[in-house]
Amino acid sequence: MDKIPFRWSWSRHRTLEGCPRRYWYQYYGSRNGWRAKEGHPAREIYRLKRLQGGRQWVGLRVHELAEDILKATMGGGLFPAATVRDRWELESRAELEAGVARGDLDNPKDVRGFEAVEYGLADEGFQDALWEDLLGQADALQAHPLFVRVLERPELVKEVETFGRVWMGDVPVTVSLDCLIHDPDKGWFVIDWKTGTRHAEDVVDAQLVLYTSYVRRRYRARLGDITAVSAMTRDGSHRQTQVEWADIGRMKKLVAASAERMVGMLDGSGKDRVDKDDAPMLPEGSETCGECRFRVLCGR
Ligand code: SF4
Repeated sequence: MDKIPFRWSWSRHRTLEGCPRRYWYQYYGSRNGWRAKEGHPAREIYRLKRLQGGRQWVGLRVHELAEDILKATMGGGLFPAATVRDRWELESRAELEAGVARGDLDNPKDVRGFEAVEYGLADEGFQDALWEDLLGQADALQAHPLFVRVLERPELVKEVETFGRVWMGDVPVTVSLDCLIHDPDKGWFVIDWKTGTRHAEDVVDAQLVLYTSYVRRRYRARLGDITAVSAMTRDGSHRQTQVEWADIGRMKKLVAASAERMVGMLDGSGKDRVDKDDAPMLPEGSETCGECRFRVLCGR
């Protein structure tokens, strides 16, 4: 395949698999929407793109807390976890209130609205329920045995939420690891914090295969020395996965086929551009549309 003008990612792949038009809104129609003038279609698409689900917001904020505490601890513990948590709570509260207020429509880059509010599905207790869930999840994260163990040995942490790139065949893939540990006696541990109630195992494993491939290439680690770990913050459990060569081979094939489909949608200008008409909507009545943040644009 010729050089492709974008970086492949698992979320990009999932978006295209779900709906080509949604893929177009997400990666093309919304481009530069944050600085587009009032009334420009890209501006509205961008605002809708940034809408988030309540659970998604909780997940993102909990990941931020994990990142903030880990980075503060790695930096010699200048800020104790309690101080980091206090600041995080203040920021979270402000973000929640702004999001529920339907975001700052004059500045869609700064504030993300909530899908439920946008589409009139949020009840009176929406904000309080999210806040309660968030604090419960934050407590659960800080009590998670794995999180506690990582904080006890911060010198073993190699990466926290760092964007990286790994080549799967000839396709560049973007990855971001929640946390990467290297213990000289026990090997490499790729940790993924999971805040949801359920995670399709194939989705979790697919991401872990990509992360493992990244660690192997970036740090020249032996595959057998890398353990991928999904840590469930809701119940304090975790699941370990040992990625094998066959998993990497399957992932390379999936990435190649997916990237080829993406390249096939480009408009032929040699740039990363797709015509809206080449990204069809799902058939009328598709269930996926009911949960899509762009549905107002499709009249669904
Ligand atoms: S509303 Fe349906 S057709 Fe439109 S972008 Fe979303 S999923 Fe695709």
